[in-house]
Amino acid sequence: MKTVYTNLVIVTIFVGAYILGSFGAAVSCMSNQNSGKVPLLVLMYHNITAKPALRGKYCVTVQEFENDLKYLQNNGYTPISVKQLTAFAHNSAPLPDKPVIITFDDGYGSFYTYAYPLLEKYDFKAVVNNVGSFTEKYTDLEEQNHPDCHNPDYCYLTLSEITKLQESGRIEMGCHTYDMHSLGKRKGCGRIKSESPEAYETALAEDIAKYRRVMPYSTSIFAYPYGIYSKESPSILRKLGFTAVFDCTERMNYIDDKNIDWLFNIHRYNRPSGISSESFFAKIQ
Ligand SMILES: [Zn+2]
Repeated sequence: MKTVYTNLVIVTIFVGAYILGSFGAAVSCMSNQNSGKVPLLVLMYHNITAKPALRGKYCVTVQEFENDLKYLQNNGYTPISVKQLTAFAHNSAPLPDKPVIITFDDGYGSFYTYAYPLLEKYDFKAVVNNVGSFTEKYTDLEEQNHPDCHNPDYCYLTLSEITKLQESGRIEMGCHTYDMHSLGKRKGCGRIKSESPEAYETALAEDIAKYRRVMPYSTSIFAYPYGIYSKESPSILRKLGFTAVFDCTERMNYIDDKNIDWLFNIHRYNRPSGISSESFFAKIQ
């Protein structure tokens, strides 16, 4: 019995050492793969509210957002622009230590009311990815002096607000399609199964042409609605003049200035409401 027990202990130690060894190899392989690369954290926000009852997976409170900004400041992060990112990728321009990109999807009006003043307070940069048809609708409401056009609970940015934000030099504007922000037959801006690649390219190009007619700025930044895309999407966007494309894969980016295909799949972490900044960032690192 004693021999059986001893053998069992030896086998357990051997198997344990093997598993640890394999794990160690996997970790060192991962670190080799990323060695010399710069870790880039990209955050994805949507709506922001002063009313705790409205908070959720895609809507943080003003206090939560400010806590995140404090956390980034206290932990040595430097928010960078997409312009800095592409200068690094294409021209090896240096990046600060611990770079982070703060993005806001959908172009909610609450960004202007709540997020922008806080970004000014902390001297941080951010990117807003607008949906052209939403901008158009709320710009029309503003022109009609509609009472709801600036209600931060549900409104979207108008062209006059977008212009002010862009002129600040602090905020970059990205394209979140003109009207492909839905989950009907077409999911986001992905290709419909029955659609030929040529027909898909035409549909995406036409949508983006409409977006560019509405917006008062030229943009080379794109964010996939719902993070959905097809295998043809990155090359079509590249042809249409986009130089940086955000997805919604919740993963760190490890970037360099050699193979820069990563510019067309920049991963982001969605920031939901309901957890502290410390817990949210702890999950990432
Ligand atoms: Zn969206």
